[in-house]
Amino acid sequence: MDKTTAQKIVKAQSPRYIKLFHLNDWKVTFKYNWIGEEGDLTFGTCTTDPSYKHATIVINPELLEDEIELVKTLRHELIHVLHSSFDIYRDTVQKLVSSKEFDALDTVFHYACEDAVMFIENILDKELKLPLMKGKR
Ligand SMILES: [Zn+2]
Repeated sequence: MDKTTAQKIVKAQSPRYIKLFHLNDWKVTFKYNWIGEEGDLTFGTCTTDPSYKHATIVINPELLEDEIELVKTLRHELIHVLHSSFDIYRDTVQKLVSSKEFDALDTVFHYACEDAVMFIENILDKELKLPLMKGKR
């Protein structure tokens, strides 16, 4: 998918999720570029600054096949914003332990975050049966 198409889809679909997740008071910035090293298959990332309610979501259009894959990625990354206060915990832990200990704890942290996102995705898809995209099933 090209960057312009990705931008148009994000512009059309993101307000619905920002409203649904009550993130209206957040400043969410979207960027579009390759993420990680060559060979990585990262569709998107989300970094947050919960103190200032800023989130930066990076979308990797090159890897995304279609609109459905992009909107799933967009929704996934916006769900990460919901548990952004965990980042304060993570930053605090990083200051208290050695880098070796932090690396081990951070693996568990990321696993737990991805699990939390998956639970919310399952609630939206399987329990609430919300259409992924506005106006579509
Ligand atoms: Zn994730």
